Amino acid sequence: MLRIDVKLPLNFTQNDIKIKICSILPIEQVDIRDIQILKLSLDLSDKSKICHKAAIGVCLDCELEEKFKLRKKVCSPVDDLSFSHKLYDVKNLRPVVIGAGPCGLFAALTLAEVGARPIVLERGLPVDEREVEVEKFIKLGILNPECNVQFGEGGAGTYSDGKLKSGALNKYKLKILNEFIEAGATNDITYSSTAHLGTDKLGEIVKNIRTKIINLGGSFIFGAKFTKFVYKNDKLEAVKYIKDGNEIILPCTDVILAIGHSARDTITSLYERGFQMIPKGFGVGLRIEHPREYINELVYGKNYDKSLETATYHLVTHLKNGRSVYSFCMCPGGTVVPATNEQGGIVTNGMSVFNRDANNSNCALLVSVTPDDFGSDHVLAGLDFQRKIEKRAFSVSNSYRAPIAKMKDILESKMPNSELGRVQPSYPMGTIPCSPDEYLPEYITSALAESFRDFDDWMSGFYLPDAVLTGPETRTTAPIRMLRNEQTREAIGNPHVYPAGEGAGYAGGIVTSAYDGMLSALTLLEKFIID
Ligand SMILES: Cc1cc2nc3c(=O)[nH]c(=O)nc-3n(C[C@H](O)[C@H](O)[C@H](O)COP(=O)(O)OP(=O)(O)OC[C@H]3O[C@@H](n4cnc5c(N)ncnc54)[C@H](O)[C@@H]3O)c2cc1C
Repeated sequence: MLRIDVKLPLNFTQNDIKIKICSILPIEQVDIRDIQILKLSLDLSDKSKICHKAAIGVCLDCELEEKFKLRKKVCSPVDDLSFSHKLYDVKNLRPVVIGAGPCGLFAALTLAEVGARPIVLERGLPVDEREVEVEKFIKLGILNPECNVQFGEGGAGTYSDGKLKSGALNKYKLKILNEFIEAGATNDITYSSTAHLGTDKLGEIVKNIRTKIINLGGSFIFGAKFTKFVYKNDKLEAVKYIKDGNEIILPCTDVILAIGHSARDTITSLYERGFQMIPKGFGVGLRIEHPREYINELVYGKNYDKSLETATYHLVTHLKNGRSVYSFCMCPGGTVVPATNEQGGIVTNGMSVFNRDANNSNCALLVSVTPDDFGSDHVLAGLDFQRKIEKRAFSVSNSYRAPIAKMKDILESKMPNSELGRVQPSYPMGTIPCSPDEYLPEYITSALAESFRDFDDWMSGFYLPDAVLTGPETRTTAPIRMLRNEQTREAIGNPHVYPAGEGAGYAGGIVTSAYDGMLSALTLLEKFIID
């Protein structure tokens, strides 16, 4: 297959692609055996003529492909990204996977596909029951600390926009995206620069992945909170978990630990039992909301074609004091979600349904923080740093009403009042006007205020006095990294345990967490390979 980069009209057809290819290569349409879109994004360089930029994979006869391979200016060979499993002797292997987020699910799927029959322990509930718990929190303020927006089947990503940022595609990531398609995602996620699943589709997708794992011989235990590893003479013999108040010992030889970054109790207990970790930086800030139409006009121009998908943006600035401020987890046409798993704390995040058609477009604006900011040398100081901010935000109203401020108030360091302009906050549990200085360190608020000017320079109009910022956004990536052997991926000091995904500090986002889980499972399987 050859890759050819082309520009295409917004509503292009297969025929448009073929005509383009034939205008670039001296061939007839009949010479084209197959075409495949490899990458697709919008070309916004001229807003009066918005079109697509695409990388197209073209299959021709071998001879023609050989001939054109040499025309490096117009085409290049496409790497083969097909994935297949090796053979493993895993008849008697029942590895345990802790956590049913993207990392745990894809680790379990990988193990199940080769016959290793994983047992997945998940502290939260299956997706349908989880939905009830999340609603109970949002509507009644009753939080289930074991099952919420962070915990439960599908992990933290179930109530999200389901953006699928994968970076450079490789055969593993392509396999992950194809699994999402098989489970119900749209076909374009392997190539679209705005690939997303949508929270309204995610529940079904996650259930379909679970069913596939079970059909392959795996099993799931929900409401099962892992507590301890049991070692005898340095050999892993079992894991302990609590279900319905009872402690259960589950014998096992290998464990994928995929607990996400919000399982502070589990992370703390592992640390206290000698699990090796180091602190790491992350981002803290607020979630900004502009009207969706307003952002569309900023990105696409005033008289934009309404068939264009809801606009996204990405912004970053490096301030003179060494801190970076950046946009994170943009949710076009989405809502701000209450995402705490701990009583008495406020955490924001964002989600969108597949159509991305809610009134506002939201995005976290984060300031980079490092272990030097945590106020202590303790390895887990970052967790405490996050928790203090979340609790201070809660204490503003002594409720889950989130503190909000308008962009203008933050820029001018003014006390916000309850008067809102054209942006109504979408956070569903109520809001209260409050200066972010009341719950965020001053250097974060001042860095945010400083960034507004830069962002408005990059994206003229981004500074909208009435835009609303809701906070705090603290659960961005893990504040620790679990140390693991680079080759074997096992935890240093805890053989046969594979810390993986976002909670272990090796991923950030759905695809990278799934990828880390898959690679950890494949590394575990290396021990059982049949030569
Ligand atoms: C509201 C929201 C929106 C987001 N939007 C996006 C997005 O659009 N795109 C994107 O790429 N990323 C998004 N993210 C981030 C993304 O969800 C995470 O990066 C990803 O889910 C991390 O995967 P993981 O499997 O490593 O951890 P998690 O998804 O956190 O999963 C860990 C699982 O382990 C379970 N667990 C924890 N402790 C235990 C224990 N002791 N015993 C048993 N089970 C345990 C938890 O219940 C949880 O289900 C969003 C996150 C949130 C909260």
